[in-house]
Amino acid sequence: MRKPFVAGNWKMNGSLESVRELLDGIKQGISEVKNADVAVCPPYIYIPEAQQQLSGSVIGWGAQDISIESAGAFTGEISASMLDDFACRYVIVGHSERRTYHGESDELVAKKYAVARSAGLIPILCVGETLEEREGGLTEEVVARQLDALMNMEGVDALAGGIIAYEPVWAIGTGKTATPEQAQEVHAFIRERVAAKSAEVAQGVRILYGGSMKPGNAKELIDKPDIDGGLIGGASLQAEDFLGICTAAN
Ligand code: PEP
Repeated sequence: MRKPFVAGNWKMNGSLESVRELLDGIKQGISEVKNADVAVCPPYIYIPEAQQQLSGSVIGWGAQDISIESAGAFTGEISASMLDDFACRYVIVGHSERRTYHGESDELVAKKYAVARSAGLIPILCVGETLEEREGGLTEEVVARQLDALMNMEGVDALAGGIIAYEPVWAIGTGKTATPEQAQEVHAFIRERVAAKSAEVAQGVRILYGGSMKPGNAKELIDKPDIDGGLIGGASLQAEDFLGICTAAN
């Protein structure tokens, strides 16, 4: 039985004041959520604030990206050990916005995943197709390519204890959610692809759905057998909405 997981990806949003308010709101409402893991991934600069407010609570925190380098002349980068200094438990890798705006390749994303994992962080590997790719019938090919980059580089065991997020790019921040059936189909495909290498890893790996998940559609998505929770963008910026999704997962 896989425990549901809900993570908020705050992207580049918030101010010190709004972050404090949001953390406070989530903390206050989380006591009802006992059967799901919950985490938030604020912008780097607000991670110390998350650590301060969430330490001792059931809510974990993490980062939205990580460098493959450990130290040195890499302006703007943040290393695994820096995330560890602030007790991050999770890190998102390969979000479609990083792939699109920062040109991150499948190989670079796989390396980021491996670096995070070897530092003891739990990586959240994002995969997903664009609208053009879906309409061209390429969904499985794209997702398989993104997944295989990691499994070929690090072996299937790299996914043991890790997390995959299926995020159709056309559903991110657009208000267009994949139907539960559309999402389940791709989640099942991902799990089968992992199972072809290790049935045990496939059974254990949590596969989240991401793409305009909201309190109103979370339950029917998470009810699907291969959907183990959500990676939430927009709706993670309002405590009430985020908590609504956590409750659905619970
Ligand atoms: C995301 O960016 O990971 C995401 C799922 O965003 P949204 O929920 O806003 O679609």
